[in-house]
Amino acid sequence: MSLAIKNGIVFDGTKVIGKKNIYIENGIIEEVTEDDKPVKEEIDAKDMFVMPGLIDAHIHMGGIKGGSLVKGYLFESPLLRILRASKWAEKLLKAGFTTIRDCGEPISIHLRNAINEGTIIGPRIIAAGRPITQTFGHGEFSHDIPLEFSKELGFSEFCDGVDSCIHAARKVLREGADFIKIFATGGVLSQRDRPENPQLSYDEIRVIVNEAEKVGTYVAAHAHGDKGARIAIEAGIKTLEHGTLLQDETLKLMVQKNVSLTPTLTIQELIYRYGKQIGVDEWGLEKIVQVRESITRVIRKAKDYGITIITGTDMGFETGIEEIDIGKNWMELVLLVELGGLKPVEALTAATYNPAKVLGVNVGEIKPGKLADIVIINGDPTYNIRDVAKVKKVIKGGIEVN
Ligand SMILES: [Zn+2]
Repeated sequence: MSLAIKNGIVFDGTKVIGKKNIYIENGIIEEVTEDDKPVKEEIDAKDMFVMPGLIDAHIHMGGIKGGSLVKGYLFESPLLRILRASKWAEKLLKAGFTTIRDCGEPISIHLRNAINEGTIIGPRIIAAGRPITQTFGHGEFSHDIPLEFSKELGFSEFCDGVDSCIHAARKVLREGADFIKIFATGGVLSQRDRPENPQLSYDEIRVIVNEAEKVGTYVAAHAHGDKGARIAIEAGIKTLEHGTLLQDETLKLMVQKNVSLTPTLTIQELIYRYGKQIGVDEWGLEKIVQVRESITRVIRKAKDYGITIITGTDMGFETGIEEIDIGKNWMELVLLVELGGLKPVEALTAATYNPAKVLGVNVGEIKPGKLADIVIINGDPTYNIRDVAKVKKVIKGGIEVN
């Protein structure tokens, strides 16, 4: 064996399995045992908590500074944003996030490629690339700028009508998307659409799902309002993002169709508590109240119904705020416990085992055969979830990061 992590209290992705030694070979976990064997290199994790690498299943690696998307996308160079985003990748990895899913940002495709070829360091990235939006949709930050200009920005791919949606899906897949992100309702940070209103029709979403499934992938849908969420679920999406205004019948349908929920509490708390301070566009400050009020009820119901909850911060800009910023994405686990009523162990599962299963990545568990993405923590997050921030060491694919 080439590497072992010894004497730590191990959380395997769903439960604490006690004091174990983890043996790693070629980046893969070979054995988890009480036996003590000689190895080339070992890490002593005595009195430490050892868990699978964390996953942020909803992030936007856009490299924006401050809370205004309009300012970031209209007035800053994408080249500068790329440089910042590569720093974000390093920060996230060092904070214990060994896998992230980017839910819409063209830069993420290239970040993913640069990390995979070893040029920069960062988490495993599952990238949506450019999200798909309807005209006058959430994928346009400002609805006052000329439409052609909005398209020219290159953030979203536009589609209106079934044929156009087929083309849009094929286009983003061709650009290198690992999965497809769509906007099935209005949102908070876009100007004049409303979170409660549906966007894209059943037929439009259905053909996008079809194109994704043809190449073995799936669709993730941004949806706040109940009606739009329901249409998206019926059309075959796999992961539902936000879900803030979901009603009981729709939650039941999610159980039936095996659709997961990413409640994205971090972005909502950030906008609610610090939106003004970080310069969030005025419409965002106005719309946040309604979605924030409802989500804690939704999470409790989702948990009761047995819906798979996965952690996603929806962070898309660096804030400079002590409490919520890029690299402090463990805040989502904290909020799931403090606002969502999850037990600490459930929050840890929502950040490891659950997203790994849903996203189909061979991580999220400390178990033979899994990729050795492991975090060593100087604390006990099953007792105090905030201890998840006390990262001592990160191992990605069997290689020590810090
Ligand atoms: Zn998002």
